[in-house]
Amino acid sequence: MKELKELVRPNIWALEPYSSARDEYKGVEATVFLDANESPYNGPINRYPDPLQNEVKELLAPVKNVRVEQLFLGNGSDEAIDLVYRCFCEPRVDNVVAIAPTYGMYKVCADINEVEYRTVLLDENFQFSADALLAAADRLTKVMWLCSPNNPTGNRLNTKEIVSLLTRFQGIVVVDEAYIDFSSEPSFSQVLDKFPNLIVLQTFSKAWASAGMRLGIAMASPEIIGIFNKVKYPYNVNLLTQAQAKEILSKRLDVERWVRLILEERGRLMKAFNDLPICLKVYPTDSNFFLARMTDANAIYKYLVGKGIIVRNRSKIQLCNSCLRVTIGTKAENTALLSALRMYK
Ligand code: PMP
Repeated sequence: MKELKELVRPNIWALEPYSSARDEYKGVEATVFLDANESPYNGPINRYPDPLQNEVKELLAPVKNVRVEQLFLGNGSDEAIDLVYRCFCEPRVDNVVAIAPTYGMYKVCADINEVEYRTVLLDENFQFSADALLAAADRLTKVMWLCSPNNPTGNRLNTKEIVSLLTRFQGIVVVDEAYIDFSSEPSFSQVLDKFPNLIVLQTFSKAWASAGMRLGIAMASPEIIGIFNKVKYPYNVNLLTQAQAKEILSKRLDVERWVRLILEERGRLMKAFNDLPICLKVYPTDSNFFLARMTDANAIYKYLVGKGIIVRNRSKIQLCNSCLRVTIGTKAENTALLSALRMYK
């Protein structure tokens, strides 16, 4: 990897971050807080939250088997995606390389930040090669985007190719693991100490069943986390989210049970899709959704909307011609979907 200083935008490297009242006084023994222009009424929401979310991180670090200083928390992992651009990519100068198809926000954030977004098409098994990504890069490529398990295809990317990219690419490699809890493979967060150019993204929005809470996780070297912390808004994770995060972290057994139920239902639903005459192919998945090639995805999508059942029509996406993306719901929801599809003519 290049020196971090060479990868970070010069203005960000030199940035003197905002120092909030909560940064400057961290003691717990004080009882009178007249430093942050807060109201003394309507507690506890009258107070600003911990800017670095230390209590949440102390609970999360052992769950993820990483150190607190390797953790960044943001307003969804979408915040971390945007921060990658703002920290590493000089607008109108630098570029990034991503697999395609993949999660749409990598490109949206590139467009917002005026950063060239290069793509390399996955193969027919939705796999990538490190060689192809490296061939698309040049000296101005700062970041490579990988998503494993990938959205919308559902599958895990080949571990050997990810390691090859991490070893050979001199810039930052992001591995977005939003769906990792539905996969049997270990997380790349466990090799952070080996790869200083690695950023792993995870989220509370999927297996942790807390999309409304908006809490995303980035795991990386303490140096990269330090850069993110400099650039993020001072109070990027609000008080209610931090309280709710502690609550869900105390319910790990529930979360594990929900994941087991989703995996069971995933098996049942995929098998049933395979037997539908209007389904041409069900793609293998490591996520809480799967991709299915249908006889006519647009018509079937519209038919389902008419029945009040919404799936994701991905038929306009590269390699996903006539495909629907189906999220696994409760047994009753999945059964409603199947009954509707069995009546489709
Ligand atoms: N990464 C991937 C691959 C996703 O599919 C999503 C959400 N659909 C996200 C990140 C964003 O998640 P969050 O809710 O944490 O912003």
